Amino acid sequence: MRSRWNDAEAAAAIERWAAAHGRDVALCVYASRLIGADTNLVLHGGGNTSVKAPLPTLFGDVATALFVKGSGCDLDRIEPGGFAVLQLAPLARLRELDSLADPDMADQLRLQQFHASSPAPSVETLLHAFLVHRFVYHSHADALLCLSNQPAGRGLLEEALGPRVVVLPYITAGFPLAKAVVRAYEQQPDAEGIVVAKHGLFTFADDARTAYERHIGIVDACERLIAARRPDRLVTPRYRSTAAPADLAAQAAPILRGLLAERTGDEDNPYRRLLLDWRADDDVVEYVNSAEAAAFAASGPLTPDYVIRTKPFALYVADPAWGDTERLREQLAAAVTEFSSRYEQYVREFLAGQGAPATRLDALPRVTLLPGAGAFCFGRTKREAQIAADMTVQGLRTKAIAHAMTGYEAAAPEHMCAMEYWSLQQAKLGTPADRPLERQVVFITGAAGAIGYGVAKVCAEAGAHVVLTDIDAQRLGRVVATIEAAHGVGTATAMAMDVTDAPSVRGAFLEACRRFGGIDVVVVNAGIAHVAPVVDLDQADLDRVMAVNFTGAFLTVREGVRVLRAQGLGGNIIINSSKNVFGPGKDFGAYSASKAAGHQLGKVAAIELAADGIRVNMINADAIFGEEGVASGLWATVGPDRARSRGLALDELPEYYRGRNLLRARVTARHVGNAVVFFASNRTPTTGATLPVDGGVVEAFPR
Ligand SMILES: [Zn+2]
Repeated sequence: MRSRWNDAEAAAAIERWAAAHGRDVALCVYASRLIGADTNLVLHGGGNTSVKAPLPTLFGDVATALFVKGSGCDLDRIEPGGFAVLQLAPLARLRELDSLADPDMADQLRLQQFHASSPAPSVETLLHAFLVHRFVYHSHADALLCLSNQPAGRGLLEEALGPRVVVLPYITAGFPLAKAVVRAYEQQPDAEGIVVAKHGLFTFADDARTAYERHIGIVDACERLIAARRPDRLVTPRYRSTAAPADLAAQAAPILRGLLAERTGDEDNPYRRLLLDWRADDDVVEYVNSAEAAAFAASGPLTPDYVIRTKPFALYVADPAWGDTERLREQLAAAVTEFSSRYEQYVREFLAGQGAPATRLDALPRVTLLPGAGAFCFGRTKREAQIAADMTVQGLRTKAIAHAMTGYEAAAPEHMCAMEYWSLQQAKLGTPADRPLERQVVFITGAAGAIGYGVAKVCAEAGAHVVLTDIDAQRLGRVVATIEAAHGVGTATAMAMDVTDAPSVRGAFLEACRRFGGIDVVVVNAGIAHVAPVVDLDQADLDRVMAVNFTGAFLTVREGVRVLRAQGLGGNIIINSSKNVFGPGKDFGAYSASKAAGHQLGKVAAIELAADGIRVNMINADAIFGEEGVASGLWATVGPDRARSRGLALDELPEYYRGRNLLRARVTARHVGNAVVFFASNRTPTTGATLPVDGGVVEAFPR
């Protein structure tokens, strides 16, 4: 590992932040970003940094403040605002206490803050307060975890680092760790850093660069020892497969997602689902296929800090019955049951005596290793699943090296459990959002069009992750960017799909399974129009309209149901039908007939799928012209003709249609989205129904 320190960049950081926050804070932000930029040092909100600096008070005197990273903030993008600012003196004095209960510590961390708007301070704040140095940096470097998670770890670390670095055993996080680290420093004041086994590294100094360079130097020394000692071959091959991991992943993902859904006890919405992040890098598949995979799955994560994301062990099936869906489901179900009882046993055994009980967590796995297919990592959002996946991949790589050296030995289960059930650690997960489509995946066809875009936006606002498909995938990029900007990275994904082509539709659903684990809602939305009286209708034009509007609806429903059934969690199919089905107009035979066919198909599907808990409903919308710069393709086709036949200019059409409905309403894509959310959230026990979204058009009343 090399130092990334660059004097010109450090000067730029001072230029940017020193005027408002002071020179030392600017340098601490810079060093924090350097540490955060190295994924071999910290992952996702891991690690923390601090600086002690003067802060003028309202009375004109100057206090010494501790600027410490906010809990859960990512170091690589941190700004001065990402630091909590606290009164140093009263926090430092807490060291005089023999013990400090978590609620008292939480009180102190809140009480001593200068700014009501600051983020919650890092759970390791007291450690930063107790050390006297101006700059303190902490990471969970891979190399240290690799060495310290070995039976011979202490000796290896001492050999790599020499006498100027103190090596401590694992110590419970929070107040006990803070006291132990400062005591170790006081016993050896020339120490350049302190390693806490199975946790990480602390370095400190009175200038920003020295503390950083020491950090990198210590990690580099560990990396060098590993490079010198690790054998070339890390694991023993066991499982062999000629199938592509991607094909196997699409088989397993929906079954797993179904098995990992927690029961809510609510009859209308019986499941709390999870989202998948699947990994199959070459080395990950190699480790999962190895003879050691069972041991890797059974062993704890690299540091107890990860357990809240990954659980203390992973699910593993040695020989998955690929190609035999029912057998595979039985294998996975049995493994989940076994996992849950093992987890319950772990909680019973190790949670006792942990003080105030934190929120009881579910007993379902977050990580599953399947030979042939790779690692399946789940979370409440795609983002959480990605975090679990990054920790899992780093874990497999590090475990493989440690195993090949002297063996892998994680922190004791009581430490894992204490961390998993530490209220301050659980707080990092945040309060789950309560929106109607939270944790659901909505698959939308024709998503680049005006209505598809509107539906996607409303579903994302309702908490869903959205899969946007269209024959024109280029146009989807902007929709994905808009949704991710508003709702977070990973909330939307796009893929090209031709609704008239069965392999294309099947492929898109399988890809959705690989990206999110499965789907919960299918919105059949892709459609085209053609204007011609029946007597002049060209057969080729009829076939084209039927292919998209009817065959496309059929293929989308059929392939969607195959995924919904594999998952076994019920689901919703919503067909964007048309007011024309009940209230046809002239010259619109191809469109109306194709929509009526799709509508009838939906009713039949409602009958056939009810036993699976899958509901099928239709939305009849009328006259939606466009949405925030996305013009309606349908109106581009039919608008000129409709305007001409009514003696109107094209731009007079929206007003004309508005005047035609009972409510004088301008119907928008957002209204269709609201109807989708209504059906998808199971607000009423309804299937086979039609909901008009048209402002009230008497001749199109459903009957
Ligand atoms: Zn830590």
